Amino acid sequence: MLDKRQFYINGTWCDPVAGQDMEVINPSTEEPCAVISLGGTSDTDMAVAAAKAALPDWLYSDPAARLALAERILEEYNARAEDMAQAISLEMGAPIDLAQKSQVPAGSWNIKNSIRAFEHIRFVEPLGDHAPEDRIIREGVGVCALITPWNWPMNQVSLKVIPALLAGCTMVLKPSEIAPLSSVIWTEIMDAAGTPKGVYNMVNGDGPGVGTRLSEHVDVDMVSFTGSTRAGIAISKNAADTLKRVHLELGGKGANLIFADADEKAVKRGVIHCFNNTGQSCNAPTRMLVERSIYDQTVEQARELAEATAVGPASESGRHIGPVVSAAQFDKIQDLIQKGMDEGARLVAGGLGRPEGVNRGYFVRPTVFADVNNDMTIAREEIFGPVLSIMPFESEEEAVRIANDTVYGLTNYVQSQDGARRNRMARLLRSGMVEMNGKSRGAGSPFGGMKRSGNGREGGVWGIEDFLEVKAVSGWSNEAG
Ligand code: NAD
Repeated sequence: MLDKRQFYINGTWCDPVAGQDMEVINPSTEEPCAVISLGGTSDTDMAVAAAKAALPDWLYSDPAARLALAERILEEYNARAEDMAQAISLEMGAPIDLAQKSQVPAGSWNIKNSIRAFEHIRFVEPLGDHAPEDRIIREGVGVCALITPWNWPMNQVSLKVIPALLAGCTMVLKPSEIAPLSSVIWTEIMDAAGTPKGVYNMVNGDGPGVGTRLSEHVDVDMVSFTGSTRAGIAISKNAADTLKRVHLELGGKGANLIFADADEKAVKRGVIHCFNNTGQSCNAPTRMLVERSIYDQTVEQARELAEATAVGPASESGRHIGPVVSAAQFDKIQDLIQKGMDEGARLVAGGLGRPEGVNRGYFVRPTVFADVNNDMTIAREEIFGPVLSIMPFESEEEAVRIANDTVYGLTNYVQSQDGARRNRMARLLRSGMVEMNGKSRGAGSPFGGMKRSGNGREGGVWGIEDFLEVKAVSGWSNEAG
């Protein structure tokens, strides 16, 4: 079993002061595969102190030096791609092909996009010709706590660490305790790239321990959090007394509006997207809203696709979906499937229990419910498993009303060959992102939500700006440069 108990503080791997052992479970086998330590208050405080001590030098460092570090991190990250894929697959159950082709590349994509966006950040700029002695200065927020989930671990870590570094912030990363192994490798990468002491620190721990301590800490200036809405609320409350900046990327309950004039691949794309990463994506299109005239055929197509979706161990190569991450997630998903049946949704594929012939591992049956109405629990709660809810609509107005009738607002999807209608929908849908006709968002496009899906944006220029303060200066001397 791997021993990954150490933390990385002030440029050194060190033993926990107040640690408590926790086993990392392989979700395909339910066997422990590694042991980490959950840090305590003193470990957290040491990491924050290191970040605070490193702040003045890093905050006022030459932006070119920060850019050079990000470029070295990218090189090191690419060199460790296979180790990273194996770690992600082991810890959170992504099938190895998905880990190699999606999970790991998401990290390098984010690093590259942040590097590209950095060129557009103006650290000092004039206010305007009307005020020649005014300057707008942008500088890092300060010491940041970065708290990440397990579902796309390197996507989320890279979306925080690199923009924070480029902005001139110092930081403490607390990765998910359920999937910490990829972040241990990430930390080795940071070390190998020559990150100055104290600029980047990593402490493992859980929410009530390290997570809470970081959120309330007087020397932490900002928390950047990705995870559940429940934890986002707890962090906001714990951060309130120190009025620190809180950036939140939370859950979702995305609607996928399929109009009768959608292209022929639209339904397939929607089902595959919903089941991708075993349904464990905050932006999954979990509510499929279908125009009445194509409703029956769509339900039938979704049933066939779900039944054709293979489920298998993460270590096996192929296009199957893996297990869900943990026993707790497995149980939660089973409860929600039961609720779907109890509340009157029509089960057309999958259902309770593991797939046939499987008696070990947190494997869930790819499940489709039809005739769902938007008041049912399965339409309101984020399930975070391979469970699709299909419901009919009669008109554009009704589709928009159902799509927006949720506390979430992360990503919505539209499938229609009518361009004017797509543009109307894009304006009316209340979400941080609207993806249409299967076109994925371009490099540097901001990721984030409205309502209880969060309040910040990650990626591109916006991702760096969220780690910057704006300082207004008057009486600036042009001579001083
Ligand atoms: P989680 O909220 O349980 O945990 C996320 C992280 O927060 C972990 O590191 C955990 O230890 C920590 N944490 C938990 N409680 C905390 C507390 N009270 N104070 C401080 N830290 C705390 O979420 P999860 O189960 O790891 O991840 C799944 C959730 O993440 C889903 O709801 C999903 O939608 C969301 N998510 C959102 C995005 C996005 O960008 N919007 C991306 C991926 C996942």
